[in-house]
Amino acid sequence: MNTKNYIDILRCPHCTREDKGVLAEVKSEWLGCSDCGRQYPIVEGIPVMLPEEGDKWLGVATDDLPKIEEHDRFVSAAS
Ligand SMILES: [Zn+2]
Repeated sequence: MNTKNYIDILRCPHCTREDKGVLAEVKSEWLGCSDCGRQYPIVEGIPVMLPEEGDKWLGVATDDLPKIEEHDRFVSAAS
């Protein structure tokens, strides 16, 4: 999956007002904000850029981030 295109235009919703929030791909399934450390899952190729998602994974170690298959079910159940 090529995520480079949208990484170039997406910004962390928490940091975007200050024109920061540059995102970096983490494990091909997450986007991490280089400014605040919030992390956003990529579900079925679509980044879930919700502030509550970023808050949820703030400070979680890369190795502790769940596989997206598990997380996808979790997101679907909540919506
Ligand atoms: Zn941020």
